[in-house]
Amino acid sequence: MPRPLKYRFVEGHPPSDYFKPRGVPLASLEVAVLTLDEFEALRLADYEGLYQEPAAEKMKVSRQTFGKIVEAARKKVADALVNSKAIRIEGGVYRTSRWERLFCPACDHQWPAAPDSTGGARPENCPRCGADVPPRDPAPRRPGRQRGRGRGAGAGRG
Ligand SMILES: [Zn+2]
Repeated sequence: MPRPLKYRFVEGHPPSDYFKPRGVPLASLEVAVLTLDEFEALRLADYEGLYQEPAAEKMKVSRQTFGKIVEAARKKVADALVNSKAIRIEGGVYRTSRWERLFCPACDHQWPAAPDSTGGARPENCPRCGADVPPRDPAPRRPGRQRGRGRGAGAGRG
């Protein structure tokens, strides 16, 4: 039975989540995918210069786990640099301490969420139409429409 992964806490999404080498034709371009928790580990250890202990605390993981995450991140970045791969930052099992937005399924309104004590988004009512809004899953940010109100899927089966 696979062990459920624990959430790793990250501060937020990077402003850019895609980096591409110049002069590599798209057809032969390979992409190294860095998960958001790997990006965060790299940011804390190598950009901010934190030791593994406080960095692990920030992400709410053990020091050993942090070591594994940052090692995986460094390998991917090195691989991308050495082999001219693009780098995309997405996915991973994480929670952001600043939940970016809540999204109302009834009227499409979006607004910044207030995080609760665990770093998750508090369920709220939509400030525009008053509908109940569940906290969103930690999913990669995607501009525009969310997987919305299933347009008639499953209605006329058979
Ligand atoms: Zn609404």
